[in-house]
Amino acid sequence: MRASCASYCSEFAPGADTLADLSAQLGAWYRHGRLVPGENSLQWIYAGGDDLDRVLWEVARSAARLLTSSQLSRVRPCAAADCGWWFLDDTKNASRRWCDMKICGNREKLRRFRERHAG
Ligand SMILES: [Zn+2]
Repeated sequence: MRASCASYCSEFAPGADTLADLSAQLGAWYRHGRLVPGENSLQWIYAGGDDLDRVLWEVARSAARLLTSSQLSRVRPCAAADCGWWFLDDTKNASRRWCDMKICGNREKLRRFRERHAG
């Protein structure tokens, strides 16, 4: 699923295997999901599968929702060289660079500071 998001967000077509995997997980989500009354709205429960399966189905559901949304152009990789995470940039001017400012942003700023003041 990560490959699906990455390939779409990078404007590369995902491979058939990647799409088949995402579709299979999404299909499992539909097959096993049931709507039941919740406290203030309906909620999803799952019949069958183990805990890991349910997590994968939810990830597939979220990935499919994002991959088919107008927000896809706002998904980008973190600018930190050693991160590898992707994030949804919800800033007004689409200027976000890191997945998390407190982690990757501060680490990158510190790395650049050290480079400027080295030797
Ligand atoms: Zn990051």
